Amino acid sequence: MSQILLKDIFHLVTMNDNRNRFNGMDVLIDDNKIVKIARNIEAPDARLVECSTKLVLPGFVNSHHHLFQTMTRNVPGAQNEPLFQWLTHLYEIWKYLDEDVVRYSTLLGCGELLKTGCATTTDHHYLYPRSMNGSIPDIQMAAASEIGIRFAPTRGSMSRGKSQGGLPPDVICQNEDDILIQSEEAIQRYHDPSPFAMQQIHLAPCAPFNITLELMEQTATLARKYGVRLHTHLAETLDENEYCQKVYGTRPLALMESLDWLGADVWFAHGIHFTNDELKLLAKTKTGISHCPTSNMRLGSGFARVPDMRKLGVTVGLAVDGSASNDSSDMVGELRNALLLHRVKNGASAITATDVLEMATLGSATLLGRSDIGSIVVGKAADIAIFELDKLEYTGALSDPMAALIFCGINHTAYMTIVNGRIVVENGQLTEFDEREIIDKGNALSMRMLEKAGVR
Ligand SMILES: [Zn+2]
Repeated sequence: MSQILLKDIFHLVTMNDNRNRFNGMDVLIDDNKIVKIARNIEAPDARLVECSTKLVLPGFVNSHHHLFQTMTRNVPGAQNEPLFQWLTHLYEIWKYLDEDVVRYSTLLGCGELLKTGCATTTDHHYLYPRSMNGSIPDIQMAAASEIGIRFAPTRGSMSRGKSQGGLPPDVICQNEDDILIQSEEAIQRYHDPSPFAMQQIHLAPCAPFNITLELMEQTATLARKYGVRLHTHLAETLDENEYCQKVYGTRPLALMESLDWLGADVWFAHGIHFTNDELKLLAKTKTGISHCPTSNMRLGSGFARVPDMRKLGVTVGLAVDGSASNDSSDMVGELRNALLLHRVKNGASAITATDVLEMATLGSATLLGRSDIGSIVVGKAADIAIFELDKLEYTGALSDPMAALIFCGINHTAYMTIVNGRIVVENGQLTEFDEREIIDKGNALSMRMLEKAGVR
């Protein structure tokens, strides 16, 4: 069994139950587990990682993404539009998604996440163009495994195209029988419920404005049959509220409640436009929220009431959201934006560096149903992010090394990221995949999609 010894750590942030932080500690990893946290550990056969100037944290957990969007970030026609207009512009480009785009966008988004200290990510792939033959979960799982990230994507879906009053073009929607059959196959093939699983899968109809209520109900029944989780976008914009009122005669959360879509096995992305009573209902039902501050700012969607949610005991995780509305998969950047955004409205004491770190580790892990990741504790999975603090940008900030990572910095690249005991980023570079190949293929594929869609 291979061992890694993190030696003489300048500052160790455990995120254990007491939120202990230590200076001068060692951490021993054996195979895929953390086996010892102590001073002066002797492990002569271990790979030694000298950490006397390093900040060591639990690998971050990203709880919402659309990896395919990395190929259409920063598209001029969608740079300055709110959600519905942004979507209708991009749908016309996303029609040209193919097997290569799925593969390289997964490598690209996961590569960026790993490079910014993220060890686990979900994904929400809801586009299944009729022209595509390959199985999207197969392609994504293979790519994630190659690059070395812990991957728990959702099998997304859209069934209600324009011809049925939905938002997307029909050509990127599937019929509901196919969705349910393929969702069940994906669970059977990829959902590993065991501790330290590198591959899990959950179910995620896209949003109330592009699926039918029958599909929502049937998806919930299917998820519960297999013990996987349920995820969707909810209460992201006022347009969505209006749409639900007009089409279903009710607000989004009440609609979800009527479909048996609340509970500890459900997490929603965004959750911005909730009333006080709705926040209490989330807390009571243990329904979780994935907070995506950058995307919310980018699309001008509004403020999620994260400080209020946390006070009420709602589980809140952090997420970068899809790369067409971020437009990065930078986890440290997301922590920083979460820290700053809530202070704009609620004052400087509204949220702390520890609060946002909690959301990016334990919070997101809970949303994904994982108790084996999110903290550096003996017996947990060896998912660890290591940042070099001996740099210009952190100089003068070492009175609180953990907060320095979030308050300061001009470059969020980790020195090392370890996932399941494997070093997948070292000296700020991916170790398992050639970054040059991702850049070259990614740019070529992105350009090809834009050209097909007639976007210059
Ligand atoms: Zn999203």
